[in-house]
Amino acid sequence: MKYKRFAYLFVGLGVIVVIWKLSVLETSVSNLKTLPQALDLHKDQLELTQRQLMIFEQIHKKTNYFRNYPVIYAVTPTYWRHVQKAELTRISQTLQLVPNVHWIVVEDSDYKTDLVRNLLTESDLIYTHLNAKTPPFEKLKDKDPRWKRHRGVEQRNTALKWLRENLKLGKDKGVVYFMDDDNTYNVRVFQEMNKIKTVGVWPVGLVGGLNAETPVLDKKTGKVMGYRSGWRPDRPFAIDMAGFAINLDLILSRTDAVFSYKMEKGYQESEFLSYFTTKEQLEPLADNCTKVYVWHTRTEKPVVNGIVPGLEV
Ligand code: UDP
Ligand code: MN
Repeated sequence: MKYKRFAYLFVGLGVIVVIWKLSVLETSVSNLKTLPQALDLHKDQLELTQRQLMIFEQIHKKTNYFRNYPVIYAVTPTYWRHVQKAELTRISQTLQLVPNVHWIVVEDSDYKTDLVRNLLTESDLIYTHLNAKTPPFEKLKDKDPRWKRHRGVEQRNTALKWLRENLKLGKDKGVVYFMDDDNTYNVRVFQEMNKIKTVGVWPVGLVGGLNAETPVLDKKTGKVMGYRSGWRPDRPFAIDMAGFAINLDLILSRTDAVFSYKMEKGYQESEFLSYFTTKEQLEPLADNCTKVYVWHTRTEKPVVNGIVPGLEV
């Protein structure tokens, strides 16, 4: 009799232990929130090297990054010239390294061209393809100096209109960046944009006759107190188009904010930014404006004396 009771007790205890073990196993599995953690736990069986683990971790980070960060709406005005495909190829491949980007390409043309359409479909990016022709009175003539006319006005306004018609204030989370097709971008500039609450600013290399233009920060407060700029540093915002990005909420709430041919030459950026913020409210990024992550490069116009038929260049 005693023996039987002891056996029951033993089996009962055994069952409890098994259930407990199983539940511990289960919780520890569900505690493994990340793939890299799981891989790390089993790295011996999987024979993973430290480098492979690092790569997995980076992939995982990127996936999370995509989930948690705003969409960067990169607005690119573009127009036909021999280097157009080369320029767009260069920046589209930079954008392929940015997981949370939506590229808005606006052609300065009466219609959407096959060249740009093909490039976009082959890019594997999330994109919107628009077109808006610059009125002839504003179009730059071949021999005109570049500063003589506003460039990209029509196209950037068309992108702003698209954003305002297609996105919802409070629902869509994003940042808007005006990304000219001929500049050079380090992918880090897009990582900086993820931090923007209102308007973020950073240095731009090779612009305004300087090796770089940059906001100048007050050492004590860390706020922008002025600008180092090759031209009119006294402008309210002496910042190149490549040197700032704006939170989508601001773009969607200030529906009156557009670029205009009426703005004084060289004041497009300054006047546009004035709709949204003040110098004191600017958010300095790129390590307190100590790093250059974007360059205002310009591509030399190539001499093209002949056209090979049947090749899209
Ligand atoms: N752009 C355009 N139509 C034009 C001239 C320029 O759409 O007639 C675009 C160009 O592709 C670029 C942006 O506007 O994305 C700024 O032009 P550009 O680079 O010539 O200006 P800059 O760098 O000299 O300020
Ligand atoms: Mn340019």
